[in-house]
Amino acid sequence: MNYNKKTVKDIDVKGKKVLLRCDFNVPQDKADGHITDDKRIRAALPTIQYLLDQGAAVIACSHLGKPEPDFDKWAKKQAEKGKDPASLTREKWEKSLEALCMKPVAERLGELLGKTVILAADVVGPDAQAKAAALKPGEVMLLQNTRFEKGETKNDPELARAMASMAEVYVSDAFGAVHRAHASTAGVAAYLPAVSGFLIEKELEIMGGALADPKRPLVAILGGSKVSSKIGVINHLLDIADTIIIGGGMAYTFAKAQGGSVGTSLLESDWLDYCNEMIAKAKEKGVKLLLPVDTLCAKEFSAEAEPVLHDTMAIPGDMMGMDIGPKTIEAFSAAIQGAGTVIWNGPMGVFEFANFAGGTRAIAQALAGTDAITIIGGGDSAAAVAQMGFADKMTHISTGGGASLEFLEGKELPGVACLLDQ
Ligand code: AMP
Repeated sequence: MNYNKKTVKDIDVKGKKVLLRCDFNVPQDKADGHITDDKRIRAALPTIQYLLDQGAAVIACSHLGKPEPDFDKWAKKQAEKGKDPASLTREKWEKSLEALCMKPVAERLGELLGKTVILAADVVGPDAQAKAAALKPGEVMLLQNTRFEKGETKNDPELARAMASMAEVYVSDAFGAVHRAHASTAGVAAYLPAVSGFLIEKELEIMGGALADPKRPLVAILGGSKVSSKIGVINHLLDIADTIIIGGGMAYTFAKAQGGSVGTSLLESDWLDYCNEMIAKAKEKGVKLLLPVDTLCAKEFSAEAEPVLHDTMAIPGDMMGMDIGPKTIEAFSAAIQGAGTVIWNGPMGVFEFANFAGGTRAIAQALAGTDAITIIGGGDSAAAVAQMGFADKMTHISTGGGASLEFLEGKELPGVACLLDQ
C-alpha cells in the first residue's frame, strides 16, 4: 500500500469550502451527555486551525457512537437484547438518536477554537445545505452525526455525492475511521480532490515508515487477550520484523501449543495449530520469537487475587496466567534495548488490576528509556502508556485502535487508499 499521500499543504484551499472528516467519536457521560475526554477533538485542532489560517471555510463531520438510523432494525436489535417489544416505541428510538447528536461536540470544539461552530441539524439535508452555502472563509460548521444517514456505513455513492456537493476539497483527518469504507471516510473522495490532514500525515509517516523501511532491528511486541484478534498482525509482522515478542493472554495458547500446561489461563484451543505454524514461520524467516518464560498467576480473575510466580510452561491446574514474570520482563526489556524501532500493540497482562500491571509497566518503561523509534498501536496499550505516565516519552501513539491494527496487518485502508498520491 502506498503511504505517500498528498496533505493539506499540497493543495490550495484559500477561499474554498473544505469538507473535513474528523474522528469526534468521543466518550460521553451516560447521564447528562457531557464529553468525558476531549482528546480526539483537541487532536483535530492543528488541521482545522491551518485550514482557517489559509482562508478556507471548514465543514467538519464525524460519526459519534453507533446510532441505528432505521427504526425497524433498531427495534429488532433491542428485542434481540431482551428488551420488552411493547417498550420499543418510535419515541424511544428518537431519544437514542438524540443522545448521539453532535451538539456537545460543536460546543466543545467552539470553546477550543475560541469561535462559534455552526451546527447543522442534518448531514446532507436542507439545513446542512443552506448553512454550507452561506459559510464564509474563516468559519466552521459541523454536520450532524454521519451515522444518522442510512447510507453512511453502506458507503452509498448518493450520500457521498451529496456530502461532496457542499465543498470543493475533501480533507481526511479521522485516522480512527480509515479502516472503514464509509461514505464520509472513503466514498466522498470519488467526487472531490482528497488529501490528508496532519493527524493522518503523521500516522502514515511514522507507522507507514516503520513498516515500509524501518530502522532495524524492528521489534514488535504483541499482547492483549486473544491470538484470534491478532492473527493477521502476527502473520504480517513475521514478514518484516526482526524480533516478535508475545505477551498477554495470547501467550498461553502459544505455551499450550508447545506442550506446556497453562491451567485455567485464557486459551483458544482452535488456534493451537496456528501458533505452531507461526513458530515454524519465525524459524524459517529467521525472526526471533520471544515468549514468556515465567508468569504471575492467580487462583481467580480478580483485583484482589494474590500473585504467585510459575514457569509459563508449568502453570498448575487451578491457576491462571495474569501477567509476565521477572525473567520474562528482563528478556523482553533486553530485546527492546537493542532495537532501532519498536512497535507495541496489546498489554502484557491484566494491567487494569494493580497486582498484575507490573509487566505492562516494565515494558512501557523500557520503551520510554530507549533511543529507538517507539510506536504504540492504539487501544489498550495506548491507554496503559498514558495511565502510567509514559505518553510523552514515546515517538508516536496511534490515534486509531482498529485502524492501527489493520495497518499492522498490512491491509489496505480504504480511507487512506482514496487520498491523492504524492
Ligand atoms: P485486546 O483488546 O485483545 O488488546 O486485549 C486487551 C485486554 O487483554 C486487556 O483488557 C487485558 O486485561 C487483557 N489481558 C492481558 N493479559 C491477560 C491475561 N493474562 N489474562 C486475561 N486477560 C488478559
